Amino acid sequence: MARSCSTDAARRFNFAAGPGQLPPELLEQAAADLLDWAGTGLSVLELPFGSIEFRDLMARAEVDLRALLAIPDSHRVLFLQGGAYAHMGLLAMNLLAEGRSADYVLTGHWSERAAAEARRFGTVRVAADGADSGYRAIPPPAEWQLDPEAVYCHITSNETAHGVQFREPPETDAVPLVAGMTSDFLSAPVPVERYGLIYASAQKNAGIAGLTILIIRDDLLRAPARPLPAVFDYARQAEAASRVNTPPIFAVHFAGLLFRWLLDHGGLAEAARASERKSARLYAALDAEPLYQCPVAAEARSRITVRFHLADPARERTFIERAQRRGLCFLAGHPAVGGIRASLYNAMPESGVDALIAFLHEFAAERPAPD
Ligand SMILES: *Cc1c(COP(=O)(O)O)cnc(C)c1O
Repeated sequence: MARSCSTDAARRFNFAAGPGQLPPELLEQAAADLLDWAGTGLSVLELPFGSIEFRDLMARAEVDLRALLAIPDSHRVLFLQGGAYAHMGLLAMNLLAEGRSADYVLTGHWSERAAAEARRFGTVRVAADGADSGYRAIPPPAEWQLDPEAVYCHITSNETAHGVQFREPPETDAVPLVAGMTSDFLSAPVPVERYGLIYASAQKNAGIAGLTILIIRDDLLRAPARPLPAVFDYARQAEAASRVNTPPIFAVHFAGLLFRWLLDHGGLAEAARASERKSARLYAALDAEPLYQCPVAAEARSRITVRFHLADPARERTFIERAQRRGLCFLAGHPAVGGIRASLYNAMPESGVDALIAFLHEFAAERPAPD
């Protein structure tokens, strides 16, 4: 399988699900800050985490994130480590008390993982399960079997392996809605007030690996359901402004650069317009060629994770290798589902989508080489 992306192409586009493509100008800024941060002669990596400088850097990142998402005062922002996968278990350890249960809506690989992690620490009820339909659509919320006594209801807003995406948060009444948003975080405005807890790894659409961003409603920041290490205790982290121990300094810095970049480029309304435009053009090109098949139902097609197969699966390997030589990198699908996947994060320029569309037409026009 084509895993590396060595190419002679003049321009490379990274279609990987994560770590994903980053804006080149921010890589340059981060490289400069690595050697000399804000004219101090110190590397940003050398800032003590209790220093005024670092506290200021982190506070500014939070102010910008709050501005981007219009986060209400009722919600706290945490900058933690572990990745979204760790927080699938940690959120259950924090919130899910013994004798209580949480609802999970299964829409693909990542919501399955979230339920499996939570089940290790508490009682999980499956409120809806899209597995029977092969995770090609989101089970209609009207048919979910929600438990009004659930501690929370968990969804995955964008399934990064299966390519299905929620268009809006479901109604869960008084039950707090918890969302794994790793792959569509900051791709569009979100009504944060409708959520009890949002968690996202940074390396897909919000920066680099090492940082997990949590947005938690105040009333969920209670003493955890069981004794936990202080660094994994959300209420303690909130009290300590995410500095119970050393935060991932560079990843927080990079996220801060990215938040500012998004604000300077029209905020999340503009990000949403760009993501709609890019994904609509790509789906239209795929739908126009019988060689390509999109398994996801039209209304659930992700604007971030575009998943497709070739009608002739034997040609997929050639497709991926040839694309790579053109500088269209990391198009292989998630191992759980195979096929092909193009991730269209904020930093993917329109020209990357143009190059992929041109390649799609060209490849479809070719006659398969005899084996
Ligand atoms: C990538 C991904 C994860 C895992 O993120 P890690 O940072 O590797 O833990 C979890 N959920 C979703 C939706 C993802 O796309």
